[in-house]
Amino acid sequence: MKNFKWIIIALVLVGIIVGASALYSRLTKDVDNDNLVETDIPETEDETEYPSPDFTVTDRDGNEVRLSDFKGTPVVLNFWATWCYYCVEEMPDFDKASALYPDVQFLMVNATDGVNETVEKATEFVDEKGFGFDIYFDTRKEAVYSYGVSAFPQTYFINAEGEIVAKGSGMLAYDKLVRGIEMIYDKVTVSPLATAEFLEPLEDFSWEREYAPEYVMLHFTSNVMANRENPYDIGEVRKIFEDNGLSINYIIDRDGKIFCYMPEDRVAWHAGRGEWKNDEKYTNAMNKYSIGIELLAVGSKSDMSQYLSSSEYDALDPSLIGFTDAQYESLSTLLSDVCQRNHIPLDREHIIGHEEYNPEKKDPGEKFYWDKIFQ
Ligand SMILES: [Zn+2]
Repeated sequence: MKNFKWIIIALVLVGIIVGASALYSRLTKDVDNDNLVETDIPETEDETEYPSPDFTVTDRDGNEVRLSDFKGTPVVLNFWATWCYYCVEEMPDFDKASALYPDVQFLMVNATDGVNETVEKATEFVDEKGFGFDIYFDTRKEAVYSYGVSAFPQTYFINAEGEIVAKGSGMLAYDKLVRGIEMIYDKVTVSPLATAEFLEPLEDFSWEREYAPEYVMLHFTSNVMANRENPYDIGEVRKIFEDNGLSINYIIDRDGKIFCYMPEDRVAWHAGRGEWKNDEKYTNAMNKYSIGIELLAVGSKSDMSQYLSSSEYDALDPSLIGFTDAQYESLSTLLSDVCQRNHIPLDREHIIGHEEYNPEKKDPGEKFYWDKIFQ
């Protein structure tokens, strides 16, 4: 009779686990058809309970760690193995994000089955790569079973309350990873719309931000002085920044692709000397009060007169001049994201051109249509 009772309990437990994973997969819905899906958070009756499936794994020192130990901290839960190609591919991005968001706990749970993967193999791999995130070993397969993980990698974004907010299946691109983090953590400093291509080390190209940004400053840039046929090579433009000790928070290429060269909590060096609003605090100090965005573009003939002679300008392929529709589109979405997170009003008063701060500068210039970003 006693044995029978235990069988019932075991069956009930299995039922709960299977039921929970079925519930989670049923409740997930596609976002933009990509592999990051937002989860509907099920109502929990007991406030003291940890709402997500819990499990115990071991850390590097063999200590037992429960997922619910991290209640109060946003968690990125990733299931991985060294034999899994896409796990290994996405790991440098997870490493970068874990360094960037130290207040978010990365729980990199290794599928340590003892056959295809061992604690030694996994530890050696992570140490060899120099990854800084915390790894854990699921030697009893408790974690993979409780999350119904059948394919790797798999990532769950769990908020500080312990609720699964989003799930990523397969390899997550960096912007998806940041988007997931943004869903569980309100201090995101890189727009999820951007690919982080930081100018590193950050300290050589920026300062820590002391004041909340009040403005967004727009610029254009290109390599047109050195290469008039192909002035928009992002690598060459990046080199101009690096060689001149300049920086920018975001840069948008001709196809509308957004790169983050400097996280928003760093002061980028883009505004130079200038004056604003007759307020001394802004004099030669606008970097500290603004987020800078560069667009790859060539302006009007007069905008470019300090860089190109009249005949050089006239010889340019006309398609290189001005801004592309893709750039306006990306800039609009980026501005709404940046302004919302930084509490900057999205209007012409707060989105300003470099030329307004320093009339010697001509960007974003006569070819830039401000109306296109305020609709
Ligand atoms: Zn500028």
